[in-house]
Amino acid sequence: PVPVIAIDGPSASGKGTVAERVAAALGWKVLDSGSLYRIVALAATRAGVALDDEAGVAAIAASLPARFEDGKVLLGGDDISTDIRSEACSVGASKVAVLPAVREALLGRQRDYRVAPGLVGDGRDMGSVIFPDAQIKIFLTATAEARAGRRYKQLMEKGLPANMQSLLDDLRERDARDAARPVAPLVKLPDAVLLDTTELDVEGAVAFVLDLVRD
Ligand code: C5P
Repeated sequence: PVPVIAIDGPSASGKGTVAERVAAALGWKVLDSGSLYRIVALAATRAGVALDDEAGVAAIAASLPARFEDGKVLLGGDDISTDIRSEACSVGASKVAVLPAVREALLGRQRDYRVAPGLVGDGRDMGSVIFPDAQIKIFLTATAEARAGRRYKQLMEKGLPANMQSLLDDLRERDARDAARPVAPLVKLPDAVLLDTTELDVEGAVAFVLDLVRD
């Protein structure tokens, strides 16, 4: 089977950056699964569908006219790259992600990313649900304070509004929702390697993952 590195972990743990760099180093594809939930939340909000309307949101997820092009995220013809990174969209994504029908609707779309020579999947359920046979599973985490600090920096760099305390509160709320949901909860799998980046920079984390691949 086409090799997969599954990188799961909580919000703002640095998974996205590490996944992208590892994929670039190996010449593999990358799946940013969280962005799919973000796009669904945004599309539902724009369509006036309540984020707890399971059938309504799942219908949007099943026929999502979204594309990833040149590092941009497009919904229809609209560039939503910045919009989906807002705090409102982060919270919305974690709300639609609790709905089993929505997760089901995004399943095939995610598995289609598995093409030669390999895939790095970034999310919460890459190793548990989407690619349970992944050759390498990593649980990438950091303290909530370190993660909120990183999100704060990202938002500031993009010129988006940011407040440290509300970021920390939102992160904890989303972590709790991701861990407590009955379907695809975020857990460290017994066969996943723990990678704590609280005291580790991106280069260190990427080197750690690449070492696992070479072993
Ligand atoms: O990783 P990111 O912060 O972009 O994900 C946004 C939200 O989408 C998460 O808080 C989580 O609730 C949800 N998610 C998920 N399963 C994934 C990826 C993201 O439930 N594989």
